[in-house]
Amino acid sequence: MNQLHVFFFPYLAHGHMIPTLEMAKLFASRGVQATMIVTPGFVEPVENARKSGFNIGIHVIKFPPEESGLPDGITSADQIKSDDMFPKFVKSMELLQEPVEKLLEEFRPDCLVADMFFPWATDTAAKFDIPRLLFHGTSFLALCTSQHMRIYKPYKNVSSDSEEFVLPNLPHQLKFTRTQVPDFAREEIVNEITKLLTKVYESETRSYGVLFNSFYELEPDYADHYRKVLRRNAWHIGPLLLCNKEGEDFKAQRGKESAIDEHECLEWLNSKEPNSVVYICFGSIATFTAKQLYEIAKGLEISGQKFIWVVREGKNQDENENWLPEGFEERTKDKGLIIRGWAPQLLILENKAIGGFVTHCGWNSTLEGVCSGVPMVTWPVFAEQFYNEKLVTEVLRIGVSVGSKQWKRVASEGVEREAIALGIRKIMEGEEGAEMRRRAQECKEQARKAVEEDGSSYTDLSALLQELNTYRLGVNTLKFNNCSI
Ligand code: UDP
Repeated sequence: MNQLHVFFFPYLAHGHMIPTLEMAKLFASRGVQATMIVTPGFVEPVENARKSGFNIGIHVIKFPPEESGLPDGITSADQIKSDDMFPKFVKSMELLQEPVEKLLEEFRPDCLVADMFFPWATDTAAKFDIPRLLFHGTSFLALCTSQHMRIYKPYKNVSSDSEEFVLPNLPHQLKFTRTQVPDFAREEIVNEITKLLTKVYESETRSYGVLFNSFYELEPDYADHYRKVLRRNAWHIGPLLLCNKEGEDFKAQRGKESAIDEHECLEWLNSKEPNSVVYICFGSIATFTAKQLYEIAKGLEISGQKFIWVVREGKNQDENENWLPEGFEERTKDKGLIIRGWAPQLLILENKAIGGFVTHCGWNSTLEGVCSGVPMVTWPVFAEQFYNEKLVTEVLRIGVSVGSKQWKRVASEGVEREAIALGIRKIMEGEEGAEMRRRAQECKEQARKAVEEDGSSYTDLSALLQELNTYRLGVNTLKFNNCSI
């Protein structure tokens, strides 16, 4: 039988690109011909994977498309600094349909795995009579929560932004305030993003199914809810970061080149006691005001803990504004390391000196925290991060919330130094911290088992590959998503 050929098309952001490439590597290691479609800004990580022996194909398509109105030089979502640039970025995602269809026409793969941000991909795949699998890059809990937020709209029944409401009919009593509900989930807000997200949900219901970078044991109630109540076809095949064994060099260059020499960083960590350093990083997109960065620095000092703090280059602050308290770096010289730019996050989290993680709850970071077995301080900022926070703090109970209340895409602020210091102390010290660490270690062990042969994720991928082979042979016994709600 010919090899199954699968095309992977990630969204133009590191949080989507990294797991999609890992997915392609995983499929390739299971005997599939895997091909990545990428835009110029994301060629390097694919080429790095190919150089380190992964048998993955690559097709590069032009970006930005001429008609998009985006300036040349924009290569990824993290360069979209203002809300008014986003519509052009959305438009450019639509314009990628044509070049992708040309590639499908020419190479005739058996399946298209396309990111959620390409809702047109469901119709595109249908034109070529192949299944479209959708990748959101988030948790089962987040997708169930998003869907229930859209259906029940409980934020309409509270009298103020700060009043809490419970989201009905989920496996747990998850409470939110109106300010934590993503813009795109709120009916009264109509903009390019909300319009796009409506198309995304519609395309999900008509797609062949959804792939999850998660594992069953982590969120069984929500994996079941998503399949049985929301009636989607779904396969959990993660944590993808554990699926492919690779060397430290590769891990250090994952996504982007690090702003710090990884050997220097590891040397620094290796000189510290186990579980004695807290790692603080907010992913590849979130931005803070200078005032908030100042509060983080103050919070770190009050906490008294050793730290590695990642501050994104250029966009977190007005370049001329002083966001560090005077003398901060001098005072914390032996205790802390600030990385300005991209950090080798996986390498850092895996180091035994790391004892806690302050995270924005992007799904990749959350999973990376889970796989490292460390307790977390959750500090959601935007996207679906407020939903993932609930999984960490209330369902798994492996973290504490810093108390972030405001969903905001850019220039986030509002968390005070005392809350930051308290959260850090709670995960790094005392009985409560030790309990969370014990539970986090259990999750880590479950994650490892899930991807082993016969583990839940390994088995689910085997089932998917079998179905795709069956589909290809024309014996299509599978029903497409058949959603009741
Ligand atoms: N990441 C990294 N170094 C950084 C910032 C981010 O390696 O300095 C990686 C991180 O390990 C994760 C991804 O980038 O794999 C960020 O994805 P996530 O879903 O956590 O957040 P997003 O960037 O999408 O908000």
